[in-house]
Amino acid sequence: MDITDIRQSFPVLNQDVNGHPLVYLDSSATSQKPESVIAALDDYYRSYNSNVHRGVHTLGTRATDAYEGARENVRAFINASSTEEIIFTRGTTTSINTIAYGYGLDFVSEGDEIVLTPMEHHANLIPWQQVAKKTGATLKYIPMQADGTVTVEDINETVTDRTKIVAMAHVSNVLGTINPIKETAQVAHRHGAVIVVDGAQGVPHMSVDVTDLDADFYVFSGHKMLGPTGIGVLYGKKALLNQMEPVETGGEMIDFVDYYDASWKELPWKFEAGTPHVAGAVGLSAAIDFLNDIGMDTVHQHEEELLSYAFNQLEKVDDLEIYGPNERAGLVTFNMKDVHPHDVATVLDADGIAVRAGHHCAQPLMKWLDVTATARASFYLYNTKDDVDALVKGLQKTKEFFGNVL
Ligand code: PLP
Repeated sequence: MDITDIRQSFPVLNQDVNGHPLVYLDSSATSQKPESVIAALDDYYRSYNSNVHRGVHTLGTRATDAYEGARENVRAFINASSTEEIIFTRGTTTSINTIAYGYGLDFVSEGDEIVLTPMEHHANLIPWQQVAKKTGATLKYIPMQADGTVTVEDINETVTDRTKIVAMAHVSNVLGTINPIKETAQVAHRHGAVIVVDGAQGVPHMSVDVTDLDADFYVFSGHKMLGPTGIGVLYGKKALLNQMEPVETGGEMIDFVDYYDASWKELPWKFEAGTPHVAGAVGLSAAIDFLNDIGMDTVHQHEEELLSYAFNQLEKVDDLEIYGPNERAGLVTFNMKDVHPHDVATVLDADGIAVRAGHHCAQPLMKWLDVTATARASFYLYNTKDDVDALVKGLQKTKEFFGNVL
């Protein structure tokens, strides 16, 4: 598949914004959706919309087959050993909350430690703060190097026999840092701790094998990987999921209910209370098919090429500070001297260029960087060198504009 074909699969990209062709550089916030995903959602609602696991009627069976088929597609995509380990959630945030409240509260006690990095998204930070507050556990941070990476030596130093949970982003949504998950899992396991991996920026951009990583929990969101909003995944090792109580209870997740007690269904349904987002799962499955057709290694390589081109071209822009390590995922976070990132994003938007500005749901990391906010351009499989050129031109224009005003 060549890039022109890929771009043509994304109808939203084919439009003008503020009189300019759209340059979408905000895929880390949410990705665009290909025709095949839109069509899968449309087909579900038009031809077999029905609740799952309940009715015996034909549409119900079709919807159940599609929903459970999506689960198998997710399983294969991340190489989990069983569909029992794949739980559909609303997204990364819900998945982490489910682990924090379903596992953390029951298996962490006073005096225990929860280990994090300073680069965590709030979604992988606040639930652990809550667990620490409720249990009397301590939060500990693995120190970061000046370039925004963590070393295995520091991980070794920070994790102790008191550590019960190590929670870590696979890829930082701000710095692009790719964390050493496999090595961290080994350290955590040596101390009897579990590792919770926030894969929101991992799975969409690289081939992920949860078995090889030996992650205990690995979570991600459909909307960042070409799928719909409102659907995400909680992968957990079966032995751990079996020890956990469901956080949400109600319909769909029960085996038997009496006046004063109830028992739960087996995995994975124990964790899926209520009517699930069937269309979301179907759409996510179509997104996985799309990514599989291209190949995750190709996706990753394309982003690496764009990133190295971007690093080169951005040198043409004066007074730009870029944060994060050289070896990283396909995003560039930066600030322009004396210009607020919101102003940078606003000027770029006037030329149809969409970048993100703000704290990126990582306020402790902003503190670490000693800034209040940054701008971020993030790439995906549909971006081209022309998009990078547009960004560079837009930034030069921003610089000129504010240079004259200031
Ligand atoms: N973790 C990381 C690293 C993210 O980038 C995001 C989204 O920006 C999240 C968690 C939260 O994802 P969601 O809002 O889909 O739950």
